[in-house]
Amino acid sequence: MSWFDSPPSSDAGVPESGGVCRDPTAPVVACRCATSLRIIGCHAVGVNGTIRLQAEADCSGGTFHWTSSSTRVTLTNADSSNLHIQAGAQPSTGRDAETITVQWTGYDCSSLSATINITVVCVVFSESAAQTYGYDDFDTPPDHTDDHVSVKKLAATVVHVVVSGGLNGNELRFSTSDVDKATVDPAPAQAAFDLTIHGLDQNKAETNLVASVVCHDAVEITRMYINVYRERVVRAVVSKIYDNRYAGTTLTYPNLDVASAQPLINPKAKAAVVRYEISDHSATGGATHVPYDLDGDGKLTWDIAASGGLEFNKLRDSFSSSDQRIVVVKDMVSRYYLSADAPLNATTITLRGITNNNFLVVGSSYPLGTGANLETVVVQSASKNSATVTLRSPLGCAHLTGEYLEFPAAGWSSNPIVIIEGTSTEEDIKWTFFHETGHIVNHFADLQAPANIMNFDQGWTDHRLRYKPQNRKYSPPGGTEIQWELIPRT
Ligand SMILES: [Zn+2]
Repeated sequence: MSWFDSPPSSDAGVPESGGVCRDPTAPVVACRCATSLRIIGCHAVGVNGTIRLQAEADCSGGTFHWTSSSTRVTLTNADSSNLHIQAGAQPSTGRDAETITVQWTGYDCSSLSATINITVVCVVFSESAAQTYGYDDFDTPPDHTDDHVSVKKLAATVVHVVVSGGLNGNELRFSTSDVDKATVDPAPAQAAFDLTIHGLDQNKAETNLVASVVCHDAVEITRMYINVYRERVVRAVVSKIYDNRYAGTTLTYPNLDVASAQPLINPKAKAAVVRYEISDHSATGGATHVPYDLDGDGKLTWDIAASGGLEFNKLRDSFSSSDQRIVVVKDMVSRYYLSADAPLNATTITLRGITNNNFLVVGSSYPLGTGANLETVVVQSASKNSATVTLRSPLGCAHLTGEYLEFPAAGWSSNPIVIIEGTSTEEDIKWTFFHETGHIVNHFADLQAPANIMNFDQGWTDHRLRYKPQNRKYSPPGGTEIQWELIPRT
């Protein structure tokens, strides 16, 4: 049986001019002019969608009138040969549940009627448990039209599909908007199934997955987004470092299992079509002694204006690799050093080596000096490229050139990346490999988003990478970023 057309309604058993027998089950209609009335159009419509039906009588002239007792559809233009059907929000209770009837009346008052049964279908896309890459539902599970599925270039993934209303997947049409970006396999004869999506030869491309009614003009039911990406492979090598001269540098997890970070990270990274290969610099998996603690305070001392400074240079020079290097140390302090003496009651201080790296925050307080000279200063004004910092209150002590102001930082975007154990758990250190390489390798910003690996601190509730725009923690204020799209793909 044709999907498109109702059987002709005409006199029973009388051969038409073409010699084809008429449908013996069709109603017998007495008519001097028209002998056949048929309906052309779709047999299904998506919820909240519209379709047209056309009635054709084999006689010119006459009038048409359409009716339906269905509560699922509304008929407009019902007194013409062209009917518009608006479906409501509810799918049919079963296949062909909505009956539409058209009556044709000739000028001689003869009449014919025909009926068509249609199905109001709802198609819902969602994440499949069997997917290969990622799925972002934009945190609006009832609305899939804003959803994005990711797929690797020249690879495949699946999207879960549920069709309600009474039809199966193979009775609808699933396609993509751009067949040079992604393609979709035919759907099976089931109402709930996984649909296979193939990414084509594209480094970075977006298209749509579209569900349509199988019909002359393939009326769209619904759609969602497909993102095709070249896989980003991040190779990192981790060195766990202590200085055997100073007990304060001893690591809590000297035997942290670096290789186990890979199966931890990759199930999250794959959502953005990223894959990590992480190795341990140490053949034995232990910590490496490097005499880096030059001032013997048990911490890595980071000279902010020098992009690290002498202690960091010891770590940097302790190993080489063409992969992204990561060092894990027990603790770190970050400092700005005074470039000039600051007398008692002064309201400004001058920092050494500032070249667009003054990160002091107006209104924030920082410790300045040591021992009897230690005091807390509050910044009144500062700018990124200015060595001069104005204080909210006059200094309570005199400070000499070379004294320092301490700045709270968990790590710096350096090569090697420096990760501080601090009081982190072993697992959070592994997640921090993911976070810190995210800054360097994938150009991600720190976020205000606890469920995202790029959340500005380790208070994670999840470690996802998202397509949905994420709120940046720092600059620009109110800024957002789409992580999947930021990742370099060439
Ligand atoms: Zn960060």
